[in-house]
Amino acid sequence: MAGTVVIVGGAIVGGMTAYFLRREGYTGRIVVLERDPTYRFCSTALSAAGIRTQFGCPINVRMSLFGASFLKTLQDRFGPDADVGFRERGYLVLGAEGALDQRRASAAMQVENGATIDVLSPGELAARFPWLNVDGVGVGTFGVANEGWFDAWSLLQLIRSEARRLGVEYLHAEATGFDTRGGRVTAVRTGSGEAIAADWVVNASGPASGRVASWLGIDLPVTPRKRTAFHFKADLDAMAMPMVLDRDGVWFRPEGDGFIGGIAPAANRDPEADGDFEPDHAMFEECVWPALAHRVPALESLRVVSAWAGHYEVNALDHNGVIGPHDELENFVFASGFSGHGVMHAPATGRGVAELIVHGRYRTLDLSPLGYDRIRDSRPLTETAVY
Ligand SMILES: Cc1cc2nc3c(=O)[nH]c(=O)nc-3n(C[C@H](O)[C@H](O)[C@H](O)COP(=O)(O)OP(=O)(O)OC[C@H]3O[C@@H](n4cnc5c(N)ncnc54)[C@H](O)[C@@H]3O)c2cc1C
Repeated sequence: MAGTVVIVGGAIVGGMTAYFLRREGYTGRIVVLERDPTYRFCSTALSAAGIRTQFGCPINVRMSLFGASFLKTLQDRFGPDADVGFRERGYLVLGAEGALDQRRASAAMQVENGATIDVLSPGELAARFPWLNVDGVGVGTFGVANEGWFDAWSLLQLIRSEARRLGVEYLHAEATGFDTRGGRVTAVRTGSGEAIAADWVVNASGPASGRVASWLGIDLPVTPRKRTAFHFKADLDAMAMPMVLDRDGVWFRPEGDGFIGGIAPAANRDPEADGDFEPDHAMFEECVWPALAHRVPALESLRVVSAWAGHYEVNALDHNGVIGPHDELENFVFASGFSGHGVMHAPATGRGVAELIVHGRYRTLDLSPLGYDRIRDSRPLTETAVY
């Protein structure tokens, strides 16, 4: 298949797209434009790299399941040394008193879509997770398979080197604009004044994707929002613990011989964060630590070791990814807006975008519910399980 695909953004979504284009048989030129090859500020490198099947939208459950199977079969694809440290230890999602019926229904939908979820009463939670204080908890759901975490940096490097091996060109260049003609994007302009001719353009620029789309006059409601992650240690054996999402939005999980955790800020503390990577230390004292100490008494005496901040690519319409072509500029393809679940969904996204470009349609998982038309029509497909 001749032609050129230009991918704007070379982190996990751009890399997966390039990799799957080759896997689906694209023989033309694939150019990945990456403005910062150190990847210092990209979301992928700063993420918590969790993967869960507990979502409110069936499509997200299915995308995660493909992500998990991708992680579990890395050696088949990339050889015996491929390893991204996948820890399949589950997510424990706690619900309030009175949430039992709603959580049972969610779990049933997730199971129907292939997930493996246990619904646990407070008594069952206390027996299974003896370090947990179940005060105020009415229900917990636990993903027994296909949930956990991994090392996003290793996955990024693995995919990037495999894509390069398959002939994908990574250029250290910033996309700055587009040329269009006759309802198509014909070239991507770079900061050095170059125009790279394109038959397809994929917008995989993460939190910058709303701005990148705006160069074409396209309204993509995706903006960068800061999320701080805290690394802490405590006198508690983390080895067998899962990722925990508490009722109030606090999350934590084991990391090395300690833990990482955080909380999504309240809306009035969550402005657009372009260029702001300063951790919000006050949030730990005010919100995270009190919640941790309540939920896991052994964490009361924890010690914060470090903190970092990265950007979520928040889709303000519905907190879901936007995948697929624009309705008018049909060779401009979206692959962003994941609102904090883009690493786990990168394999499914890359495969889907590659299928669209190579075969003209989705052949495995139908990602059309995440298409751009819902943005254009303001028809949200709201994801409620956002942390
Ligand atoms: C603290 C934190 C925790 C998270 N936890 C999880 C989690 O547990 N699980 C999960 O799945 N996700 C998580 N996420 C979200 C996840 O990191 C993102 O959804 C995902 O990394 C998006 O990948 P991406 O490749 O689209 O974006 P990015 O990783 O941001 O990559 C975009 C790339 O595009 C480049 N770029 C931008 N503009 C241009 C341009 N004009 N020209 C050239 N290059 C450009 C950037 O330099 C960057 O490298 C977390 C994020 C944060 C910040």
